[in-house]
Amino acid sequence: MSKENSNTNGGFELTSGSNVCVIGGGPAGSFFTYFLLELAERVGIDLHVDNIEAKNFLNVGPAGCNHCGGIISESLVQLLSTEGINLPSSVINRGIDSYVMHTDDRNVKIETPLHEKRIASVFRGSGPLGTTATEWSSFDKYLQDLCVQKGAKLIIDKVIDIVNSNGRPKIKTKNNLEKEYDLVVAAVGLDNKSLSVLKGVNTKFQPPNTTKTYIREFFLGEEVVSQYFGDSMHVFLMDIPKLEFGALIPKGQYVTLVLLGKEINKELVQSFLSSREVIGCFPIEFNLTGLASCQCYPKINTRTARYMYTDRFVAIGDSATSKLYKNGIGAAYITAKAAATTVIFNGVSAKDFEKYYLPACRSLNFDNSIGKLVFLVTKLIKTNSLLKRGVVKTVMKEQQKPGEKRNMSTVLWDTFTGSAPYKEIFLRSMKPAFLTSLVWNTLISIKK
Ligand SMILES: Cc1cc2nc3c(=O)[nH]c(=O)nc-3n(C[C@H](O)[C@H](O)[C@H](O)COP(=O)(O)OP(=O)(O)OC[C@H]3O[C@@H](n4cnc5c(N)ncnc54)[C@H](O)[C@@H]3O)c2cc1C
Repeated sequence: MSKENSNTNGGFELTSGSNVCVIGGGPAGSFFTYFLLELAERVGIDLHVDNIEAKNFLNVGPAGCNHCGGIISESLVQLLSTEGINLPSSVINRGIDSYVMHTDDRNVKIETPLHEKRIASVFRGSGPLGTTATEWSSFDKYLQDLCVQKGAKLIIDKVIDIVNSNGRPKIKTKNNLEKEYDLVVAAVGLDNKSLSVLKGVNTKFQPPNTTKTYIREFFLGEEVVSQYFGDSMHVFLMDIPKLEFGALIPKGQYVTLVLLGKEINKELVQSFLSSREVIGCFPIEFNLTGLASCQCYPKINTRTARYMYTDRFVAIGDSATSKLYKNGIGAAYITAKAAATTVIFNGVSAKDFEKYYLPACRSLNFDNSIGKLVFLVTKLIKTNSLLKRGVVKTVMKEQQKPGEKRNMSTVLWDTFTGSAPYKEIFLRSMKPAFLTSLVWNTLISIKK
């Protein structure tokens, strides 16, 4: 057993030789591992970190995929780069520099507010089922490799049980690994079984609330993707009940469809795919409702977990909290970094996590409550054809202006891509210039 010190809280802290287990090697698990080892090196402690991940991200299809739209916001790409994580071109399938907003009766192309390639689209695994070309690499695998380079031990296995043993968490895996750790970090996403396993170490743990979403990959080939989608993401503001957001995202030879909302089901998918606006994005002969190369109904975090830490245990990423409907990878980064900083500079007891880690989760949760308001306003726009026309008209006019004067375009860009906190988006949309131009353009639309 490793040596251990008591910290100023009277809790526990890690020292050289301490053993840490990170369960899950998605973005949250990898970011945590990366920051933990980076900070440990800075303060001169030598930790043993096992990262246990059930999937092999080199596999194509569901076996290597963490079910996601794969949009990495501009702000996150920049943040990662300041942390020394520079996404290589083999991971970025496409740099998206504009989006086309579709409403029920018209569409408008919105360029990135500052004329830069603003967001990246990535595959989380090695591509959809049936992928044979390997010119792109998995985003999750790239992060995992960074952790191994920093000294983490990657174990491909599944944690099936955790118990408290002599005051320390002890894990058991499918391949019969049994080991006691000084700290266990849960980054298991929203996998129900894995989340219930966490109760073994923290009986009070209450998993996050979730809802069902939809993802589908359309194989079109690189030429057709370039011809029909270019570097634009297509977003849909359509009045379909329960649908909050629909997007088509170009990625290499594929276009990824993402539908977010409340309990997305087959009927909703069907109604979306058979709409004129969606069909119009694809070549006329393309069979949208035919066989999909890959499709799934993954869950998304809609409300924070509770009691997400105890002594020597903390949950991060989707298993703890996320950003409502957008930038879940960015939220994973925030929680992972906050947890790693707490562990290295404060300690691993419940008191440490409460004092230094919880505020980061609370701040995400607060922003999500403003996000709900932003989605309420979006819903109002979607269901009111006059307002919708007003928004489109405002955006069309703005496209002739310099980037910094495109208020509505920037608000929509940040809402769709998750590039800014909801609070910032909300405050910007309350500015008199924003409201005046929206009201004016809506009034003009009435006259016509
Ligand atoms: C439809 C949809 C679209 C989305 N689009 C975007 C987007 O465009 N951009 C964005 O930023 N976010 C997006 N998200 C959110 C994003 O996918 C998540 O927020 C993010 O993946 C959370 O990272 P994580 O590491 O916490 O969890 P995950 O990515 O789910 O990773 C958890 C990992 O833990 C592993 N694991 C689980 N149980 C065990 C176990 N018992 N033992 C070992 N390993 C285990 C899993 O195999 C997995 O690799 C989207 C989500 C959905 C549902």
